[in-house]
Amino acid sequence: MDRVRIAVSACLLGENVRYDGGHKYDPYVAEELAAHCELVPLCPEMEAGMGVPREPVHLVGDPAAPRMIGNQSGEDWTVRVGALVRERVTQLGAMRIAGCVLKSRSPSCGIDGVDVAAEDGRLEPIGRGLLAAQLRRQLPSLPVEQERGLHDVGRREHFVVRVFAHHRLDGLLATDAADASAAWGLVAEFHRRESYLLTAHNPRNCAELDRLVAVTAERPPADLRARYADLYTETMRTCATVVQHVAVLQRILRDLRVQLTARTQEDITAAIADYRDERTSLVDVMNLIERQLETGGRSILGDQSYFAPAPVELWPCRR
Ligand code: SF4
Repeated sequence: MDRVRIAVSACLLGENVRYDGGHKYDPYVAEELAAHCELVPLCPEMEAGMGVPREPVHLVGDPAAPRMIGNQSGEDWTVRVGALVRERVTQLGAMRIAGCVLKSRSPSCGIDGVDVAAEDGRLEPIGRGLLAAQLRRQLPSLPVEQERGLHDVGRREHFVVRVFAHHRLDGLLATDAADASAAWGLVAEFHRRESYLLTAHNPRNCAELDRLVAVTAERPPADLRARYADLYTETMRTCATVVQHVAVLQRILRDLRVQLTARTQEDITAAIADYRDERTSLVDVMNLIERQLETGGRSILGDQSYFAPAPVELWPCRR
């Protein structure tokens, strides 16, 4: 598959595009993400022709549909920036980006908590930047995070896993199928590889996906892939938890019991309990399971996304 593409606020990459001619270089985005993904920089304010250095702008009015106004001049940029972000988001969709990292608190890029001035001038941090709002409207399933969120290890891990899941799903949706039956085959095989990961994120939704794939084996609907994609995306929105990881590890043990000696089963059961009780890490249990299931140097679980949902360098849990 193609390299994963992520759209990024250009100032996070060290580009001098901020109103004061500076940048907001973020080492995680510019170095770690860049090492594994193709980053697509964008700066709505520069691209709308504001130039640099420039007068800063702020949001005014209805937080659901704010206007973008120059701080001193009162110049109204709403129409120009609005048209620009509509066009850019359409382009990003056509480029099949798998995620987006935006600068927090910006009237253009901020995802939430952006200051919006009421008519009486009072500022309330309840807004969303114009680009972030357009992304939400046009590409609602796209994983979007702000750089501040990525400083939290749990949020970063969830974002990265969602981005790579989105990319795999996009590969499924882009694969041609001769007819509805062939489309079902592609979905069923995809679901087999994603099943443990989906269960860790949302077991109830995964069970629904199991039913969708199983029930439609006889007469797959033409829109199976679209229905599967919607529920898959919703499932991955939920964070995996320790309790759900424990359930998945126990299920893997049950599924593969016949291939393991009684002694190995006991070792894995004990390791799962240690993980549940915070005496060992998830990755230690995963490594133990994979080692026991290796044949010819390859784990038979090697094609399961659960064991490699993202490159190991980007997935903190696995480092
Ligand atoms: S926050 Fe967005 S609009 Fe502002 S400088 Fe960065 S990329 Fe440009």
